[in-house]
Amino acid sequence: MKYAVLLDQVKTYNPSTYHATRNYTNGDVTAWSPYISRGFLNPLLVMEALKSKYNKQAWIGFMQQMAWREYFQRVWQNKGDFILEDLKSNQTDVLLKNLPIPIKESRTGIDAIDVSIIQFYKDGYLHNHQRMYISMLHSNIFKAAWLPGAQWMYAHLLDHDPAANFLSWQWVAGTFSSKKYVANQDNINKYTNTKQTKTFLDTEYENLPNAIFDSSGHLKPNLIAAWKQSEGQFLDQPFELDTIQIVKKLISKNEYPIFDLGRLDNTLPFCIYNSFNLDPLWHAGEKVNRILLVEPGHYAKFPVAENVMQFIIDLGVSNIPDLQIFVGSFEALKNSIDKDVIEKMGSNENTIIKINKPLIYFKEHPTTIHYRGIQEERDWLFPEIDGYYPSFFGYWKKCERFLK
Ligand SMILES: Cc1cc2nc3c(=O)[nH]c(=O)nc-3n(C[C@H](O)[C@H](O)[C@H](O)COP(=O)(O)OP(=O)(O)OC[C@H]3O[C@@H](n4cnc5c(N)ncnc54)[C@H](O)[C@@H]3O)c2cc1C
Repeated sequence: MKYAVLLDQVKTYNPSTYHATRNYTNGDVTAWSPYISRGFLNPLLVMEALKSKYNKQAWIGFMQQMAWREYFQRVWQNKGDFILEDLKSNQTDVLLKNLPIPIKESRTGIDAIDVSIIQFYKDGYLHNHQRMYISMLHSNIFKAAWLPGAQWMYAHLLDHDPAANFLSWQWVAGTFSSKKYVANQDNINKYTNTKQTKTFLDTEYENLPNAIFDSSGHLKPNLIAAWKQSEGQFLDQPFELDTIQIVKKLISKNEYPIFDLGRLDNTLPFCIYNSFNLDPLWHAGEKVNRILLVEPGHYAKFPVAENVMQFIIDLGVSNIPDLQIFVGSFEALKNSIDKDVIEKMGSNENTIIKINKPLIYFKEHPTTIHYRGIQEERDWLFPEIDGYYPSFFGYWKKCERFLK
């Protein structure tokens, strides 16, 4: 995607029908999250564009969803890695430790969900309601611990974002909300335009907790047959992925511009990009060295699939001039570029020699806490509201005061 093409989409988007239709899988949603999450499309710029053409009534529903994103970012900023643990209360009624195989293999038997998972593997995108259906099926019907499912979904999302993803999974599992979220077949049919009946979700809400397991935790006989389970066979599997191997393969296959000290100018500052900051307008037009940092430590904690990594690199390389890719830690990058720069001033007899270090710029983000150099702020829709709020609605109440 070229930045100019995306900007055209922003300029022509009409948010008036967003609020009324956004819950339907064919509703007027934007699919901009892969660009917003990658720090490529600035939420401030989006809202300014909408506000310049439409009245508050037209854009407020869209703004509220953008505020959800920002809310999750603030929780992550305040809670750090605790977003990977049950945040408010422990997940209850857990029977499986890992990712249910019928979900991973898109053969749950719920057509709308299976089709969305097949498509998801292809294009890395899921509608919000599909994400909610998959995660409720995983955590509240299959009764699997939420984290492996969240890691699996994260890995395949072009818009992967630890805050939005892990906290939404926790919201569905009831560990970051007051109750678990469930949906039955009627609800799924309504929002996905399907008409399926006679599934294990085709039941009243009070039966959903026992939709696939009986009260002693055994899989129901018809589902044993449907999922070709035999006695003692596992219904779930750990989720594992080695992103750094994927990166190395992609670099050798695509001839991406890898880090080359010979092509750098040490007398110029360095701008450090990562998968959360691919902002094409950042220090645009300035003479700087531009490095996309791919840290193995980060991807060991938050692995992503091959098409996702390819998306990140392509987006960066095709929109940020002379971007070079460095695979290694920030520390290792710093050691390679942090050479003395000798500056000579004055005439021959009175030459003053100054020894400088190159300037390193990066943007504030939970993934850049260990970077060293000049930290610059991200753009926030609500910069004033920066603490931890236990619920979105408390946060949104504060936001509303700053809405114009
Ligand atoms: C289980 C689960 C996992 C999720 N994982 C992610 C994730 O990894 N990354 C991610 O960006 N979003 C995630 N979301 C939130 C939401 O589903 C996506 O942001 C949205 O579907 C993106 O599609 P869109 O750009 O068409 O959204 P639109 O409806 O067009 O919304 C515009 C923008 O607003 C923001 N937004 C909208 N809804 C939400 C929401 N509920 N929470 C946070 N931000 C929102 C996004 O930046 C989005 O691009 C998750 C939601 C659930 C339920």
